[in-house]
Amino acid sequence: MKRRDAGNRRERGNVQSVPQVILDVLQYELYALGTLPATRRIPAHRTPFFLYESPPPRDGPAGWTGPGGTGFRRRLPAAAGRLECGTVGGTMAKPQVIVVGAGPVGFLTALGLARAGASVRVIEAEAAINTSPRAAVYLAVTLEFLDKLGIFDDAFAVGLQSDALRMHVRETGECVELRASVLRNDTRFPFQLHFGQDVLAGIVQRHLLKLPDTAVEFNTRLTAVTQDASGVTVSVETPGGAKQLRCDWLIGADGGHSGVRKALDLPFEGHTWPERFVATNIWYEEFPEHGIGYANFLTDPVRWAVIAAISRDGLWRVTYNEDGSISDEEALRRVPQRLAEILPGSKRYELSEASPYRVHERACPKFRVGRVLLAGDAAHVCNPCGGMGLTTGVMDANALIDALGAVMNGRSDDSVLDFYAADRLRVFREFSSPSATEYKRILGESDPARRKRDLEQFKAVAANPDIMRKTMLAAFTVRGNPMPVGIF
Ligand SMILES: Cc1cc2nc3c(=O)[nH]c(=O)nc-3n(C[C@H](O)[C@H](O)[C@H](O)COP(=O)(O)OP(=O)(O)OC[C@H]3O[C@@H](n4cnc5c(N)ncnc54)[C@H](O)[C@@H]3O)c2cc1C
Repeated sequence: MKRRDAGNRRERGNVQSVPQVILDVLQYELYALGTLPATRRIPAHRTPFFLYESPPPRDGPAGWTGPGGTGFRRRLPAAAGRLECGTVGGTMAKPQVIVVGAGPVGFLTALGLARAGASVRVIEAEAAINTSPRAAVYLAVTLEFLDKLGIFDDAFAVGLQSDALRMHVRETGECVELRASVLRNDTRFPFQLHFGQDVLAGIVQRHLLKLPDTAVEFNTRLTAVTQDASGVTVSVETPGGAKQLRCDWLIGADGGHSGVRKALDLPFEGHTWPERFVATNIWYEEFPEHGIGYANFLTDPVRWAVIAAISRDGLWRVTYNEDGSISDEEALRRVPQRLAEILPGSKRYELSEASPYRVHERACPKFRVGRVLLAGDAAHVCNPCGGMGLTTGVMDANALIDALGAVMNGRSDDSVLDFYAADRLRVFREFSSPSATEYKRILGESDPARRKRDLEQFKAVAANPDIMRKTMLAAFTVRGNPMPVGIF
């Protein structure tokens, strides 16, 4: 089948250059490499762009026992911290970090911490990055973070740019459209980018491996974790046999079945939805002529679907629900029948991949145990209907880079990691999981009165640019409170 090159338009007219930030980064990297004298450290009021200096949080998160009100300041007592990133006694003493999981969250966290001066080793159980069809749409809040890490341009080069999110009501044929471009005065990235999360992982891996003291080891499965006051010991299985690794900090970014979480004997609280979801990747040229945009919700009590373009050459993701009582094999066998029910037009598509999966709303009540931290799906999982799964994980990485980076660099004591743990759990419980649940409800709402009310609300939002802007801005809530670091 002929692949269509949808092309890409670059709409970054309001992107501004930030020379001072670049100077800060260069100065910081020289310092981290030990080539800048300690006396020429970055002034305390200017932190590198990857450790944004942020306003103090209005309130500390639930469970946070430290100060959290306006005016909060935290400075590490001179004697309490290790000067990890500079020259200590004539030798480099970088903090050692092991990140478990070569998924997007693990790689992003690894890149940020390596930039912050750590020696970072990513270990991954599988032989390569997982390429199964999973998350593929990146919202402005994620694009801002990719830019902060210096990888936005690579993402833009491969991604398909979209503006509209269309909600189609199957029973009436109506379509309502929300547009990311209403955020043009709020963000430098008032659009979405679409591409597979494996592509993102690959981009970040390339950037990571350009940095000194970084490594990525596939076929390396974590099996056990122990820790003491000075560090963490990790047991791994490799093709060469079992061995133990030692680090200062361990990041569990090893997905929903996290070996790190299990090794710590931590619960994964919540529920599993009764139905199964099926993610399919298909080549189908007819979507545009039937009003399907790059990102769509097709609402229907039975045949709902989420349809999104996921590449610039005509590959689409169609996700739908399936009977939870049937086997994966049966769900796969039924893919042609289900796609025939969902697709408009001739239905002459080419199936690239299909993946049935169980959907959960679960979180671990503790994202931190001593020197071990959880992030991404290892810490929380939700249904994918609102795109909150990966977005929340990416924002965990953002927060963890700031928090652990500050601890490593002596800008905060380790209590900021408790703040990280509490605030990220709060975001998941108060925002990510409830929003994902609400999107799932809207997609398959069976009550006609509620379906009517949902449509009226979407129409009201679509008709008023100010309300639409506020609605689109809500996604930034996933960023949570800034980590209280670097405010001297
Ligand atoms: C079919 C499907 C569709 C999805 N669609 C969407 C979507 O549309 N939008 C959205 O936002 N989210 C979606 N999600 C969720 C999204 O994919 C996850 O939120 C995202 O993958 C989380 O990234 P992560 O880096 O935390 O974990 P993962 O991507 O799961 O990476 C974890 C890695 O850790 C490795 N690992 C596991 N155990 C060990 C061990 N013991 N030792 C070493 N390595 C280990 C795994 O092999 C894996 O490579 C979907 C998920 C699935 C399954």
